[in-house]
Amino acid sequence: MSFKLEKLLRPHIATLQAYTSARDEYTGKEGTFLDANENPFGSITDQDFNRYPDPYQAELKQKIAEIKEVKPSQIFLGNGSDEAIDLLFRAFCNPGKDNVILLPPTYGMYEVSASINDVEVRKVPLTADFQLRTDKILNEVDKHTKIIFICSPNNPSGNKVNREEILYLLKKFKGLVVVDEAYSDFSDEPSFTTELKNFKNLLVMQTFSKAWGLASLRLGMAFASKDLIKILNRIKPPYNISGLTQETVLAAMGNYEKVKAMVKDILTEREFLKTKLESLDFVNKIYPSDANFLLVKMPNANLVYDELIDQKVIVRNRSKVILCEDCLRITVGTRAENEHLIEALSKIFSSKK
Ligand SMILES: *Cc1c(COP(=O)(O)O)cnc(C)c1O
Repeated sequence: MSFKLEKLLRPHIATLQAYTSARDEYTGKEGTFLDANENPFGSITDQDFNRYPDPYQAELKQKIAEIKEVKPSQIFLGNGSDEAIDLLFRAFCNPGKDNVILLPPTYGMYEVSASINDVEVRKVPLTADFQLRTDKILNEVDKHTKIIFICSPNNPSGNKVNREEILYLLKKFKGLVVVDEAYSDFSDEPSFTTELKNFKNLLVMQTFSKAWGLASLRLGMAFASKDLIKILNRIKPPYNISGLTQETVLAAMGNYEKVKAMVKDILTEREFLKTKLESLDFVNKIYPSDANFLLVKMPNANLVYDELIDQKVIVRNRSKVILCEDCLRITVGTRAENEHLIEALSKIFSSKK
């Protein structure tokens, strides 16, 4: 049995007449542009934003392709990874009929996006050390199962998922396997983009929101076969990435060295934070992390969360999430921020003695 993208696609998407924008119909850069009902006089801002941006972000993709070692035609850019997630549901999952498999505890947007699109979610929890139950996952698959979402390194647990088991699913499952690598910059594990040549049913997501420090710009990447990318491009809003974002990120691409330096600093701080937390006797467990955060287990985490807020230290309360009972998810901060957190935690627990 081999993978057939056309068979997976919703029928009406296959025959969809896509919108063609002014910037689709004429792609030249020079000329008198009277085609897009723009304001010819400029903008009210210091910088001009009066022209519509490139709908396919060609220049930006060229640069990303070099860094990520893929072809520009294998890249989709979205308004955050969240846009790619939503478009996958809309392209492949028939509401009220198809289903996807999620592996909790994991990133919340997969389920929210499924619900918005009225798509059934089948959950197969990870093991206690946050790895895949591959056979249980495959047991849940039926002819309406379109996508399996795998987050690696996983949010909120922080660990990377066993590569061999992801490869096993890629081989056995004839729907799409999405590997969300939002945190891969913080891990030594090679990206699954290296597997794109072997698997037509693979889609890898990465983002500029974490290691690149550009969360506010909203730019997410999806890498897949060029046929799959074409589908996402056909159904996305025409101008989904603003000109400001395209220009800013394009300029930043020359600064890849700075990303590497910031990642290195974050890894140093992750180690510092881990060592400090380990020295606190009330901390029960710090889970292994390949990401820029630590999942930390402690007594009465729910209460600790509130008391941290009283001291204006905000972490993520995951204590009600499956397999994360009594856990807080703590983002690695600067040295001063990490010290502030440790101080605040110490205060809370010393007052309890
Ligand atoms: C932060 C995060 C993202 C990034 O989402 P954007 O919409 O690109 O900001 C994606 N996936 C996971 C698992 C994340 O934690």
